[in-house]
This record gives sequence, C-alpha cells and structure tokens, in this order.
Amino acid sequence: MSEILVLVEQVDGQVKKVTLELLTLARSLGTPAAVWAGPGITPEAKARLAEYGAEKIYVAPSSDIVDYVVAPKAELLAQLVAGKSPAAVLVAATAEGKEIAGRLAIKTDSGVITDAVGLREGFVADQSIFGGGVNVHAKVRKGTPIVAVRPNSTAPEPAAGAGAEEEVSVTLSEAAKATRIVERVKQEKGARPELTEAAIVVSGGRGVGSAENFAIIEELADALGAAVGASRAATDAGWYPHQFQVGQTGKTVSPQLYIAAGISGAIQHRAGMQTAKTIVAINKDPEAPIFELADYGVVGDLHQVVPQLTEEVNKRK
Ligand SMILES: Cc1cc2nc3c(=O)[nH]c(=O)nc-3n(C[C@H](O)[C@H](O)[C@H](O)COP(=O)(O)OP(=O)(O)OC[C@H]3O[C@@H](n4cnc5c(N)ncnc54)[C@H](O)[C@@H]3O)c2cc1C
Repeated sequence: MSEILVLVEQVDGQVKKVTLELLTLARSLGTPAAVWAGPGITPEAKARLAEYGAEKIYVAPSSDIVDYVVAPKAELLAQLVAGKSPAAVLVAATAEGKEIAGRLAIKTDSGVITDAVGLREGFVADQSIFGGGVNVHAKVRKGTPIVAVRPNSTAPEPAAGAGAEEEVSVTLSEAAKATRIVERVKQEKGARPELTEAAIVVSGGRGVGSAENFAIIEELADALGAAVGASRAATDAGWYPHQFQVGQTGKTVSPQLYIAAGISGAIQHRAGMQTAKTIVAINKDPEAPIFELADYGVVGDLHQVVPQLTEEVNKRK
C-alpha cells in the first residue's frame, strides 16, 4: 500500500493527540508515515508514533525548519512528496496546518481540502458546512491529495507500526527563510486541555452575564475535564479572553461533546463548533436558534442549571 504522509504536531517533544488521530485515519487508507519537522524528536515521541501505526518516521532535524514561520515545513513536505510519491498528505486543520497545506498544494501543483471531518476510500473527504446543515464530499482531482483534517474528527486507536526512522535533509530556499522567528513567549497554561484539542468543551455566552459568572462555566469544565470556550459576545464584553473565542473569527473546535450555555447560536458561532459530535444547549429562551443544532437542550436559567450539572457530574466521579 502506498505511503500516506502525516505531518506531526508536537509541543516540547510531546506528540499532540491530533497526530494520533491522523495516523489512525491514514492507517485505514494506506501505510502511515509520520513526518517530524525540526529537531527534538525523543525516544518517547518515536514510540508514540509507532504505537499509533507509523511504519516510517521521516525526521528532518534541521533547526532552520522551526526557526522560520511555516514556509520551511511546506518545502520539507514538497521534497518528500517529490521523493517518496505518497498517496496523500494529511495535516491537522489548525491555522498553521492549513497554511502549510495551501503552500504545499501550490508547490506540488495539487488539490487541497481543508477542514475535513472524515476521509474515506479513494480519499473522499467529508466536510460539514453551513452550520452543519450541509455535508460535502470532496475529492482532489489533481496531483497528490493534501487534506487538512480537523482535530477530534477521528478517535485515535493504537495499532503498532514499525516506526522505522529515516533522516531527511532538506534544502530550504531563500524565500522560505523570509520571516525569521525572533522570540517565542510561552503562554501560561492551566490544567485544562487545549481548546482545539479538547474532547469536551464548555462554552459560555452573553447569557453568562459577567466575567465573575464565568466561574460556573469553568467549574463545569473542570468537573468534566473540559476546555472552556466563549462566544464573541462574551469575549468582546471582556468577560473571557479572546483566545478562547469559538467561531468564524475565533477557534474551530470539533469535540465529542460541546456544551453551549447562554449562547444563542448565531451562524458565526456555529461555524466554529457545528461539527461537534454531541451538542448540548442550555438557554432560557426555547426559541433560541442553538436548539435547532443541539442534540440535547435544557430550557432554563444557566445560573441554576450549570451548577446543578456540575454537582451531578462531581457526585458520579
Ligand atoms: C464578521 C463576524 C464574525 C463573527 N465571529 C464570531 C465568532 O467567531 N464567534 C461568535 O461566537 N460570534 C461571532 N460573531 C458574533 C455573532 O454574530 C453573535 O453576535 C454572537 O455569537 C452572539 O453571542 P451570544 O450567543 O453569546 O449572545 P446572544 O446572541 O446575545 O445570545 C445570548 C443567549 O443567552 C441566552 N440567555 C440569556 N440569559 C440567560 C440565562 N440566564 N440562562 C440561559 N440562557 C440565557 C439568551 O436567551 C440568548 O439566546 C461574529 C459576527 C460577525 C458579524
């Protein structure tokens, strides 16, 4: 079976969950080959990639790859596409992943599909658009299919691969080195999972009423081991930081469970969460559009419902 390249997403040598999802997906369509872009691969990371099915691990240890923004990763993948003729390239549909996918498509004269929520035989990708109201099946017709897949679209399943390492040296163009990263500032990370990777997201909207009231959203999130999200109304009001905004102009999430509390369900909010597997809405207005999208709805005051839910979840632990 032909190789399918999977660009590894990692933080400090730790392979991110989305990569394990992509390897699982790649396994159903061909032979997964992980691509580690930059220095810092650890024995643990290699073992993790092999555990989830990587038959090959291409390692390009040059620090140039991570010293310049995105372009070098696209060049690395383009060189691997030319040299290895993979059947497809999978990247995570993160902001960086999608930019790499676009650049790679240009470099390899290939078609690209972004925001896929599934990938089937023949590299037919599933996309969910217009508030989840329309499912699109799309297929690349030219070159090597390049598909950016949303985090949490596939459940990662281990199935051991050989994990054979092959070092790759990459020749970067001057153009790829046009923008150098001069500083990296680590954001303080709490105990909660990263919003775009979390399996459960609890989001609050204007109905939460104040920054202080977001404590009840956080408490429910912590009881469930979830990430906290917010609508734009809540972030614009300064109740919650903008980096947690879900929607068209915020983050795109695709968790197993999305709980929307005090969020009306505007199209721009839906754009960021409509592919969640199960959606629960808590809203005091039975006519709120979010209920059209929700799998389960609670009509009630979130200030009563959310703490009760938290209490119930904590009782069952
Ligand atoms: C170009 C553009 C981009 C945008 N991008 C985004 C984006 O990325 N993300 C985003 O979220 N929005 C975005 N918006 C804004 C979007 O149109 C909505 O204005 C926003 O999503 C509304 O947020 P909300 O649902 O929290 O507030 P509202 O629409 O005001 O809804 C609040 C809801 O809370 C309910 N409620 C009130 N009190 C309670 C209570 N005590 N208990 C239970 N329910 C209660 C109400 O019934 C209501 O349904 C964008 C808009 C534009 C024009």
